[in-house]
Amino acid sequence: MTNLNEYLGGKIFNAKELTPDLKKILLDQGAMQTDATYQIKGERYCRRCLMRLPQKSGKYSYCRHCINLGKISSRDALLITSSDVVFPVQEEYLSWNGVLTSNQQRGVHELLNAFNSHKDHLVWAVTGAGKTEMIFPLIEQALIKQQRVAICSPRVDVCIELFPRLQKVFPKTTIGLFHGKSLERYHLTKIAVMTIHQLIRFEKAFDVLIIDEVDSYPLAGNQMLHQAIKKSKKDMGMTIYLSATPPKKLLQKVEKGQITLTKLYQRFHGHPLPEPHCHLLFKEINFLGINPRLRLKLNQIVNNHQRLMIFFPSISVMEKFAQKLGKYYPTLSFVSVSSLDKKRLEKVQQFREHQVQAILTTTILERGVTFKRVIVLVLNADAKEFSRTSLIQIAGRAGRDKKYFDDEVHYYYRYYNLQIHQACREIRYLNQQVKK
Ligand SMILES: [Zn+2]
Repeated sequence: MTNLNEYLGGKIFNAKELTPDLKKILLDQGAMQTDATYQIKGERYCRRCLMRLPQKSGKYSYCRHCINLGKISSRDALLITSSDVVFPVQEEYLSWNGVLTSNQQRGVHELLNAFNSHKDHLVWAVTGAGKTEMIFPLIEQALIKQQRVAICSPRVDVCIELFPRLQKVFPKTTIGLFHGKSLERYHLTKIAVMTIHQLIRFEKAFDVLIIDEVDSYPLAGNQMLHQAIKKSKKDMGMTIYLSATPPKKLLQKVEKGQITLTKLYQRFHGHPLPEPHCHLLFKEINFLGINPRLRLKLNQIVNNHQRLMIFFPSISVMEKFAQKLGKYYPTLSFVSVSSLDKKRLEKVQQFREHQVQAILTTTILERGVTFKRVIVLVLNADAKEFSRTSLIQIAGRAGRDKKYFDDEVHYYYRYYNLQIHQACREIRYLNQQVKK
């Protein structure tokens, strides 16, 4: 027996992948069948990802943009299932006894206002402001109104961190975690946690779309993913953007009054963001091993048994450094992670559980992860892989715990460039706003 839940909820299927029986059932349930492509001004577009198909070479063309989700050609038809679903009413949705700070309460109030007026909303909250807790009451309101909520991030790691937190506070509500690497098959749930890429598979599916880390790779500047956000939202639905470093385009929309804004300049524990210490290195980092200025810092950290995160611009730089680190500091236990690392989640967990003293990482851990009491170093902070926003996010990994709010952050570089200057200036600016 087919589990219909794996199909319902505004999901897009290539009609040829469904059996005639299943197709009939889904059509009876309100699904819509449509051509897989459509034409505007002589150009052909893909109905699933809304991107333009290449100029026709043969008789049929297919969409290369969303090919990862299965091939769609101009002769295919799509079946888009109904998103009109009635969920059973629950007595209680949110089960959380945490206390919100007055700033967070203001944010909740502003979010609920936006929800009630069907307006898109941006939450600009410094790293560690506690933005996740702020969305709980909003999700609760949506659930009470029988609405469906999707919480999306461009980053798998962020989704994986978020999922258990939501399960804990909405214990009786169905929640799904869907991303390219997960084994869980899609099924209809009231709350869906997923990567932005997954949204391409949906049309008019969600009443409330919460987009976390809206400025981060690969969402930033990606037309297909931005279109997927618009397309997967219901006509009367709303989108909430969460970011510590919002992109200019969103701030311009705020200025034009198209979306409303909540600003949170203060971390939940009320202490300022750690301001980075800047170190100009006169020699290459790999000159004769490890640069002496850096070594001084490392000696202090290793001798004091302090916990350490080191960020690198690339895997190759990280790997070379890891070898030297192991040689100079044989007593230092550490792991290194990157986007290509299959054991990344386990290694992050090892660091979290204090099984190792240090974690070496690329920008993959620049956001969405929280550790207590950790010194943060960025090597080659002037490298092109570190933007202003990633340097701010990385600095935000430090000082997240109330007791250890003043963790140190150090940027090491050979050229003091614009991104370093802007990151330091913005962190100082945010801290000054709190004092005002
Ligand atoms: Zn496509």
